[in-house]
Amino acid sequence: MTAKPDENTDAAEDWAPATRLVHGGTLRSQFGETSEGLFLTQGYVYESAEQAEARFKNEEPGYQYSRFANPTVTMFEERVRLLEGSEACRATATGMAAVTSALMSYLSAGDHVVAARALFGSCRYVVEDLAPRFGIASTLIDGTDIEAWKAAIRPGTKAVFFETPSNPTLDLVDIKAVSELAHAVGALVFVDNVFATPMLQRPLQLGADVVMYSATKHIDGQGRCLGGAVCCTQQFLDDHLSVFLRQTGPSMSPFNAWVLLKGLETLPLRVKAQCETASTIADHLASHPAIDRILFPGRSDHPQAELAARQMSGPGQIVAFAVKGGKEGAFRFLNALKIIKISNNLGDAKSLITHPATTTHQRLKPEVRAELGICDGLVRLSVGLEDAGDLIADLDMALAASS
Ligand SMILES: *Cc1c(COP(=O)(O)O)cnc(C)c1O
Repeated sequence: MTAKPDENTDAAEDWAPATRLVHGGTLRSQFGETSEGLFLTQGYVYESAEQAEARFKNEEPGYQYSRFANPTVTMFEERVRLLEGSEACRATATGMAAVTSALMSYLSAGDHVVAARALFGSCRYVVEDLAPRFGIASTLIDGTDIEAWKAAIRPGTKAVFFETPSNPTLDLVDIKAVSELAHAVGALVFVDNVFATPMLQRPLQLGADVVMYSATKHIDGQGRCLGGAVCCTQQFLDDHLSVFLRQTGPSMSPFNAWVLLKGLETLPLRVKAQCETASTIADHLASHPAIDRILFPGRSDHPQAELAARQMSGPGQIVAFAVKGGKEGAFRFLNALKIIKISNNLGDAKSLITHPATTTHQRLKPEVRAELGICDGLVRLSVGLEDAGDLIADLDMALAASS
């Protein structure tokens, strides 16, 4: 007996996102369970030797081994695919497995990749250190500057890669304009859409070819497990990604897929609430005397406010700001917080705050941090689901302690 697609999900393509996120992709077993089944199995048994042969020859659909596919993971992939509106989606063990697999399955020695330099630390390692070891040249540029993209993209450029908004300074990249430049030389556009979440930004509709997620962040949203996803065309999956994932094995565990399916059900509610609280906090902090600078894509003083309004349907839930007094001021502030926890993670129900210069970006040379705008007073706040008034009281109390 195999799980069958819920008949009602035939209409999933017509549903609004909230409905897709609750029902999309459901495979219901013969037991008629309400919740998604957790198929905690490594392998699958066959009714006959002929059936096993047919499965391996790809002549009959069905599962063979959970490194290749698993019904709970399939449900997660289909639900993310429906949300993103992509032709295909594959889940991975982590967000970094998604980024590395998407890029390394596609690029070969002799290829060239252009990336925005404001990248999540591990993503920067993949393009700046790992790819060149395999003969893939990379150029890192200021992703906010369209002239820099024009200058760097050349015949032979096979991929462009960026995140927008970026971590931790919330710089934006114009997805549509960069996609046009990339496509003119036949390069594919890879977007790490973690900070915007699939609720607030649709890179594929703006011209991107491959979208990657750390499901660890907002998709789980409750700090429990790691996961990742790659959304792409059927052709990219068939030509590059599928065989790479199958043979190298960065698969998502069925248990994590089950947790993440539950996360997807509440994603729109959480992102909406977090965006609202983040906006309230950003507006409150903007005029605070203990702060030098605030960075939030929803505010008109963000350097790319016009682009934010054009390509995002909401501001996101990350607020970055520079506390006066440099590292000492920032540390006094962090250590005084009571509700908001010090953690380098983000997208959680719990509000989390980090000091990028000494944690996520400490690997970078001081001059590179300066180039990225990561000053010693900068902190990155990931706004959770707590009451906005309680969070503001916590921030005010700690800012008073910072000076
Ligand atoms: C967290 C994160 C990743 C990596 O995701 P993991 O699930 O931790 O591997 C990649 N890109 C961005 C922007 C992230 O925030």
